[in-house]
Amino acid sequence: MTFLASEKNRQAEFKLSSKYFTKEARKPGLFRNRLYPFALPVSCADQNLHQWIRTEAIEYFKKHEIVWHTSAGVDLPTNHMVSSQIMCLSIDLTSNGRRPLFVFHIVNGSRHHQEEFAHTLNAETRFFQWSYEARLKDHRERSTRGRSIVFFAFAAIASSAIRESVPRPIDVFVPENGFISLNVALSPGRLGSLSTKTTHPTYMQGIQSVWDRLEIRLQLQFPYRYQTKGEMLENCRDTDTLSRLLGYTISCGQYHIHKHTHCGVCIPCLVRRAAYRKVGWDDPTEYCKDLRVDKSDNIAVATSAWLILQVQGIRKVTAGSLSFAKGSEKRQLEQVVSRGLSEISDLLRAYGRL
Ligand SMILES: [Zn+2]
Repeated sequence: MTFLASEKNRQAEFKLSSKYFTKEARKPGLFRNRLYPFALPVSCADQNLHQWIRTEAIEYFKKHEIVWHTSAGVDLPTNHMVSSQIMCLSIDLTSNGRRPLFVFHIVNGSRHHQEEFAHTLNAETRFFQWSYEARLKDHRERSTRGRSIVFFAFAAIASSAIRESVPRPIDVFVPENGFISLNVALSPGRLGSLSTKTTHPTYMQGIQSVWDRLEIRLQLQFPYRYQTKGEMLENCRDTDTLSRLLGYTISCGQYHIHKHTHCGVCIPCLVRRAAYRKVGWDDPTEYCKDLRVDKSDNIAVATSAWLILQVQGIRKVTAGSLSFAKGSEKRQLEQVVSRGLSEISDLLRAYGRL
Protein backbone atom coordinates (compact mmCIF):
# COMPACT_ATOMS: atom_id res chain seq x y z
CA MET A 1 0.00 0.00 0.00
CA THR A 2 1.34 3.44 -0.87
CA PHE A 3 1.88 6.07 1.80
CA LEU A 4 -0.99 8.13 0.37
CA ALA A 5 -3.40 5.19 0.50
CA SER A 6 -2.47 4.29 4.09
CA GLU A 7 -2.78 7.96 5.12
CA LYS A 8 -6.27 8.12 3.59
CA ASN A 9 -7.28 5.10 5.69
CA ARG A 10 -5.74 6.63 8.79
CA GLN A 11 -7.56 9.94 8.31
CA ALA A 12 -10.88 8.16 7.65
CA GLU A 13 -10.43 6.28 10.94
CA PHE A 14 -9.34 9.46 12.76
CA LYS A 15 -12.47 11.26 11.57
CA LEU A 16 -14.72 8.60 13.07
CA SER A 17 -12.88 8.20 16.35
CA SER A 18 -11.74 11.75 17.18
CA LYS A 19 -13.89 13.94 19.40
CA TYR A 20 -12.85 17.02 17.43
CA PHE A 21 -15.34 16.45 14.63
CA THR A 22 -19.09 17.06 14.72
CA LYS A 23 -21.54 14.27 13.96
CA GLU A 24 -22.21 15.78 10.53
CA ALA A 25 -18.48 15.93 9.73
CA ARG A 26 -18.08 12.18 10.28
CA LYS A 27 -20.13 11.41 7.15
CA PRO A 28 -18.30 10.74 3.84
CA GLY A 29 -17.49 13.89 1.91
CA LEU A 30 -17.90 14.75 -1.74
CA PHE A 31 -14.55 15.39 -3.44
CA ARG A 32 -14.34 15.80 -7.22
CA ASN A 33 -17.83 14.32 -7.69
CA ARG A 34 -17.25 11.20 -5.59
CA LEU A 35 -17.94 10.42 -1.95
CA TYR A 36 -14.87 9.48 0.11
CA PRO A 37 -14.57 8.45 3.78
CA PHE A 38 -11.36 10.51 4.09
CA ALA A 39 -13.07 13.70 2.93
CA LEU A 40 -15.29 15.91 5.05
CA PRO A 41 -18.74 16.99 3.84
CA VAL A 42 -18.25 20.30 2.04
CA SER A 43 -20.33 22.13 4.68
CA CYS A 44 -17.82 20.97 7.33
CA ALA A 45 -14.62 21.78 5.40
CA ASP A 46 -13.50 24.29 8.05
CA GLN A 47 -13.12 21.36 10.48
CA ASN A 48 -10.15 20.24 8.39
CA LEU A 49 -8.24 22.86 10.40
CA HIS A 50 -7.57 22.32 14.09
CA GLN A 51 -10.05 24.32 16.17
CA TRP A 52 -7.20 26.29 17.79
CA ILE A 53 -6.11 27.74 14.48
CA ARG A 54 -9.32 27.54 12.41
CA THR A 55 -10.57 31.12 12.52
CA GLU A 56 -7.11 32.71 12.45
CA ALA A 57 -5.96 30.59 9.49
CA ILE A 58 -9.09 31.30 7.43
CA GLU A 59 -8.84 35.03 8.17
CA TYR A 60 -5.09 35.09 7.44
CA PHE A 61 -5.52 33.37 4.07
CA LYS A 62 -8.35 35.75 3.15
CA LYS A 63 -6.44 38.86 4.21
CA HIS A 64 -3.29 37.88 2.31
CA GLU A 65 -5.20 36.45 -0.68
CA ILE A 66 -3.57 33.04 -0.28
CA VAL A 67 -5.29 30.35 -2.31
CA TRP A 68 -6.56 27.24 -0.58
CA HIS A 69 -5.62 24.10 -2.51
CA THR A 70 -8.80 22.50 -3.90
CA SER A 71 -10.88 24.88 -1.81
CA ALA A 72 -14.31 23.59 -0.75
CA GLY A 73 -15.90 27.03 -1.14
CA VAL A 74 -15.29 30.74 -0.80
CA ASP A 75 -12.64 31.30 1.89
CA LEU A 76 -12.74 27.66 2.88
CA PRO A 77 -9.94 25.09 3.02
CA THR A 78 -10.17 21.84 1.12
CA ASN A 79 -12.37 19.11 2.57
CA HIS A 80 -9.75 16.48 1.62
CA MET A 81 -8.11 15.35 4.86
CA VAL A 82 -4.83 14.27 3.25
CA SER A 83 -3.92 17.71 1.97
CA SER A 84 -0.28 18.76 2.26
CA GLN A 85 -1.36 22.38 2.77
CA ILE A 86 -3.59 21.43 5.72
CA MET A 87 -0.90 19.15 7.19
CA CYS A 88 1.73 21.91 7.06
CA LEU A 89 -0.56 24.41 8.73
CA SER A 90 -1.60 22.03 11.49
CA ILE A 91 1.91 20.87 12.29
CA ASP A 92 3.44 24.34 12.18
CA LEU A 93 0.84 26.20 14.12
CA THR A 94 0.01 23.64 16.78
CA SER A 95 3.57 22.50 17.27
CA ASN A 96 4.49 21.98 20.89
CA GLY A 97 8.17 22.39 20.15
CA ARG A 98 8.20 25.96 21.49
CA ARG A 99 10.28 27.11 24.43
CA PRO A 100 8.20 29.92 25.88
CA LEU A 101 9.16 32.48 28.46
CA PHE A 102 6.84 32.34 31.47
CA VAL A 103 5.62 35.45 33.22
CA PHE A 104 4.27 35.20 36.76
CA HIS A 105 2.54 37.81 38.83
CA ILE A 106 3.47 37.40 42.49
CA VAL A 107 0.67 37.53 45.02
CA ASN A 108 1.11 36.57 48.64
CA GLY A 109 2.13 32.97 49.06
CA SER A 110 2.44 32.23 45.34
CA ARG A 111 6.20 32.71 44.81
CA HIS A 112 7.21 29.22 45.87
CA HIS A 113 4.54 27.52 43.77
CA GLN A 114 5.52 29.55 40.72
CA GLU A 115 9.11 28.40 41.14
CA GLU A 116 7.87 24.85 41.34
CA PHE A 117 5.86 25.29 38.12
CA ALA A 118 8.98 26.60 36.35
CA HIS A 119 11.09 23.74 37.69
CA THR A 120 8.56 21.11 36.63
CA LEU A 121 8.37 22.61 33.15
CA ASN A 122 12.15 22.67 32.94
CA ALA A 123 12.01 26.45 32.58
CA GLU A 124 14.18 27.69 35.45
CA THR A 125 16.07 29.95 33.06
CA ARG A 126 12.97 31.11 31.22
CA PHE A 127 10.65 32.61 33.79
CA PHE A 128 10.04 35.99 35.38
CA GLN A 129 8.34 36.65 38.70
CA TRP A 130 7.23 40.21 39.03
CA SER A 131 4.86 42.30 41.07
CA TYR A 132 3.70 45.75 39.99
CA GLU A 133 3.57 47.02 43.58
CA ALA A 134 1.38 49.96 42.62
CA ARG A 135 -0.18 51.55 45.69
CA LEU A 136 -2.32 54.61 46.01
CA LYS A 137 -2.02 56.71 49.13
CA ASP A 138 -5.52 56.22 50.49
CA HIS A 139 -6.69 53.16 48.66
CA ARG A 140 -5.66 49.57 48.33
CA GLU A 141 -7.11 47.67 45.37
CA ARG A 142 -8.15 44.31 46.74
CA SER A 143 -9.82 42.90 43.65
CA THR A 144 -7.92 41.13 40.87
CA ARG A 145 -9.60 43.12 38.11
CA GLY A 146 -6.35 44.63 36.92
CA ARG A 147 -4.62 41.27 36.68
CA SER A 148 -4.89 40.73 32.93
CA ILE A 149 -3.54 44.08 31.85
CA VAL A 150 -0.67 43.58 34.29
CA PHE A 151 0.07 40.25 32.61
CA PHE A 152 -0.01 41.89 29.17
CA ALA A 153 2.39 44.57 30.37
CA PHE A 154 4.72 41.99 31.91
CA ALA A 155 4.64 39.99 28.67
CA ALA A 156 5.63 43.10 26.72
CA ILE A 157 8.55 43.71 29.09
CA ALA A 158 9.64 40.05 29.06
CA SER A 159 9.61 39.99 25.26
CA SER A 160 12.42 42.53 25.21
CA ALA A 161 14.69 39.73 26.48
CA ILE A 162 14.27 37.79 23.23
CA ARG A 163 13.50 40.62 20.80
CA GLU A 164 16.93 40.52 19.16
CA SER A 165 16.89 36.78 18.53
CA VAL A 166 13.28 36.51 17.27
CA PRO A 167 12.82 38.46 14.03
CA ARG A 168 9.03 38.10 13.58
CA PRO A 169 6.33 39.39 15.95
CA ILE A 170 6.65 37.57 19.25
CA ASP A 171 3.60 35.52 20.18
CA VAL A 172 2.06 36.29 23.57
CA PHE A 173 -0.11 33.37 24.62
CA VAL A 174 -3.05 34.19 26.86
CA PRO A 175 -4.15 30.91 28.46
CA GLU A 176 -7.67 31.94 29.43
CA ASN A 177 -10.66 29.73 28.70
CA GLY A 178 -13.38 31.01 26.37
CA PHE A 179 -16.20 30.92 28.91
CA ILE A 180 -14.45 33.15 31.47
CA SER A 181 -12.97 35.36 28.80
CA LEU A 182 -16.42 36.22 27.43
CA ASN A 183 -17.81 36.44 30.98
CA VAL A 184 -21.30 36.91 29.66
CA ALA A 185 -23.49 38.69 32.24
CA LEU A 186 -25.59 35.77 33.47
CA SER A 187 -28.39 38.07 34.60
CA PRO A 188 -29.34 41.65 33.68
CA GLY A 189 -28.10 42.80 37.10
CA ARG A 190 -24.56 41.50 36.64
CA LEU A 191 -23.11 44.23 34.51
CA GLY A 192 -20.01 46.38 34.94
CA SER A 193 -17.60 45.25 37.61
CA LEU A 194 -19.61 42.05 38.20
CA SER A 195 -18.83 40.84 34.69
CA THR A 196 -15.36 42.16 33.92
CA LYS A 197 -13.93 41.30 30.55
CA THR A 198 -10.20 41.68 30.90
CA THR A 199 -9.38 38.94 28.38
CA HIS A 200 -12.43 39.52 26.20
CA PRO A 201 -11.63 39.27 22.44
CA THR A 202 -12.67 42.92 21.90
CA TYR A 203 -10.52 44.12 24.77
CA MET A 204 -7.55 42.10 23.57
CA GLN A 205 -8.04 43.45 20.07
CA GLY A 206 -7.80 46.93 21.61
CA ILE A 207 -4.53 46.04 23.37
CA GLN A 208 -3.25 44.59 20.08
CA SER A 209 -4.04 47.80 18.19
CA VAL A 210 -2.24 49.88 20.82
CA TRP A 211 0.82 47.67 20.43
CA ASP A 212 0.55 47.83 16.62
CA ARG A 213 0.28 51.63 16.66
CA LEU A 214 3.29 51.86 18.96
CA GLU A 215 5.17 49.36 16.77
CA ILE A 216 5.61 46.97 19.68
CA ARG A 217 6.03 43.78 17.69
CA LEU A 218 3.94 41.41 19.75
CA GLN A 219 1.04 39.27 18.64
CA LEU A 220 -1.59 38.19 21.17
CA GLN A 221 -2.57 34.55 20.76
CA PHE A 222 -5.67 33.17 22.37
CA PRO A 223 -5.58 29.40 21.79
CA TYR A 224 -8.34 28.38 24.22
CA ARG A 225 -10.96 30.89 23.18
CA TYR A 226 -13.33 28.15 22.03
CA GLN A 227 -12.78 25.86 25.01
CA THR A 228 -14.27 25.70 28.47
CA LYS A 229 -11.95 25.26 31.42
CA GLY A 230 -13.01 21.60 31.69
CA GLU A 231 -12.12 21.08 28.04
CA MET A 232 -8.75 22.77 28.53
CA LEU A 233 -7.94 20.23 31.23
CA GLU A 234 -9.30 17.36 29.20
CA ASN A 235 -7.38 18.29 26.04
CA CYS A 236 -4.06 19.07 27.72
CA ARG A 237 -1.20 17.06 26.21
CA ASP A 238 0.34 16.39 29.63
CA THR A 239 -2.50 15.74 32.04
CA ASP A 240 -0.16 14.04 34.57
CA THR A 241 1.82 17.24 35.13
CA LEU A 242 -1.26 19.42 34.93
CA SER A 243 -3.21 17.43 37.53
CA ARG A 244 -0.18 17.57 39.84
CA LEU A 245 0.23 21.36 39.60
CA LEU A 246 -3.31 22.57 39.14
CA GLY A 247 -4.17 22.59 42.83
CA TYR A 248 -1.57 25.32 43.42
CA THR A 249 -3.09 27.74 40.94
CA ILE A 250 -5.42 30.58 41.87
CA SER A 251 -8.80 31.17 40.23
CA CYS A 252 -10.87 32.98 42.85
CA GLY A 253 -11.95 36.57 42.21
CA GLN A 254 -11.94 37.20 45.98
CA TYR A 255 -8.75 35.42 46.93
CA HIS A 256 -7.35 38.45 48.78
CA ILE A 257 -10.59 39.12 50.60
CA HIS A 258 -10.69 35.59 51.98
CA LYS A 259 -7.16 35.58 53.38
CA HIS A 260 -5.62 33.92 50.34
CA THR A 261 -8.14 31.13 50.15
CA HIS A 262 -10.58 30.31 47.38
CA CYS A 263 -14.14 31.32 48.30
CA GLY A 264 -15.65 28.39 46.36
CA VAL A 265 -18.78 30.19 45.18
CA CYS A 266 -17.76 33.10 42.94
CA ILE A 267 -18.10 32.47 39.19
CA PRO A 268 -14.35 31.70 38.65
CA CYS A 269 -14.45 29.29 41.62
CA LEU A 270 -17.58 27.59 40.22
CA VAL A 271 -15.82 27.30 36.85
CA ARG A 272 -12.74 25.81 38.53
CA ARG A 273 -14.75 23.28 40.53
CA ALA A 274 -16.84 22.38 37.49
CA ALA A 275 -13.69 21.79 35.44
CA TYR A 276 -12.26 19.44 38.07
CA ARG A 277 -15.56 17.63 38.11
CA LYS A 278 -15.65 17.31 34.33
CA VAL A 279 -12.30 15.51 34.21
CA GLY A 280 -12.95 13.55 37.42
CA TRP A 281 -9.76 14.63 39.21
CA ASP A 282 -9.60 15.09 42.98
CA ASP A 283 -9.78 18.79 43.77
CA PRO A 284 -7.27 19.60 46.55
CA THR A 285 -8.30 23.30 46.68
CA GLU A 286 -9.40 24.63 50.05
CA TYR A 287 -12.69 26.51 49.67
CA CYS A 288 -13.85 28.64 52.58
CA LYS A 289 -17.58 28.58 51.74
CA ASP A 290 -19.84 25.55 51.60
CA LEU A 291 -21.36 25.18 48.16
CA ARG A 292 -24.23 23.06 49.54
CA VAL A 293 -25.67 25.83 51.68
CA ASP A 294 -24.04 29.14 50.67
CA LYS A 295 -26.51 31.91 49.87
CA SER A 296 -24.31 33.68 47.30
CA ASP A 297 -26.36 35.04 44.43
CA ASN A 298 -23.79 33.59 41.99
CA ILE A 299 -25.46 30.24 42.45
CA ALA A 300 -28.94 31.63 41.78
CA VAL A 301 -27.65 33.52 38.74
CA ALA A 302 -25.87 30.46 37.28
CA THR A 303 -28.93 28.28 37.92
CA SER A 304 -31.35 30.68 36.27
CA ALA A 305 -29.01 31.16 33.28
CA TRP A 306 -28.90 27.39 32.84
CA LEU A 307 -32.68 27.15 32.96
CA ILE A 308 -33.05 30.01 30.45
CA LEU A 309 -30.60 28.19 28.18
CA GLN A 310 -32.72 25.04 28.38
CA VAL A 311 -36.03 26.74 27.74
CA GLN A 312 -35.24 29.71 25.51
CA GLY A 313 -31.86 28.92 23.99
CA ILE A 314 -28.36 30.39 24.05
CA ARG A 315 -29.25 33.72 22.38
CA LYS A 316 -31.51 34.59 25.31
CA VAL A 317 -28.53 34.03 27.65
CA THR A 318 -25.96 35.91 25.61
CA ALA A 319 -28.50 38.70 24.93
CA GLY A 320 -26.52 40.46 22.23
CA SER A 321 -23.22 40.36 24.10
CA LEU A 322 -21.62 38.38 21.26
CA SER A 323 -22.63 40.86 18.60
CA PHE A 324 -18.96 41.69 18.03
CA ALA A 325 -18.55 38.23 16.40
CA LYS A 326 -19.97 37.09 13.09
CA GLY A 327 -20.81 33.82 11.34
CA SER A 328 -19.03 30.67 12.43
CA GLU A 329 -17.02 32.48 15.08
CA LYS A 330 -20.20 33.67 16.77
CA ARG A 331 -21.59 30.15 16.73
CA GLN A 332 -18.41 28.77 18.28
CA LEU A 333 -18.53 31.39 21.02
CA GLU A 334 -22.19 30.65 21.72
CA GLN A 335 -21.32 27.00 21.99
CA VAL A 336 -18.52 27.64 24.46
CA VAL A 337 -20.91 29.64 26.66
CA SER A 338 -23.45 26.78 26.49
CA ARG A 339 -20.88 24.15 27.34
CA GLY A 340 -19.43 26.27 30.16
CA LEU A 341 -22.88 26.64 31.70
CA SER A 342 -23.42 22.95 31.27
CA GLU A 343 -20.24 22.20 33.25
CA ILE A 344 -21.41 24.52 36.05
CA SER A 345 -24.88 22.99 36.05
CA ASP A 346 -23.38 19.51 36.54
CA LEU A 347 -21.47 20.84 39.54
CA LEU A 348 -24.54 22.53 41.07
CA ARG A 349 -26.59 19.41 40.55
CA ALA A 350 -23.96 17.34 42.36
CA TYR A 351 -24.21 19.72 45.32
CA GLY A 352 -28.01 19.67 45.38
CA ARG A 353 -28.36 23.26 44.12
CA LEU A 354 -30.07 22.47 40.83
ZN1 LIG B 1 -13.96 32.53 44.57
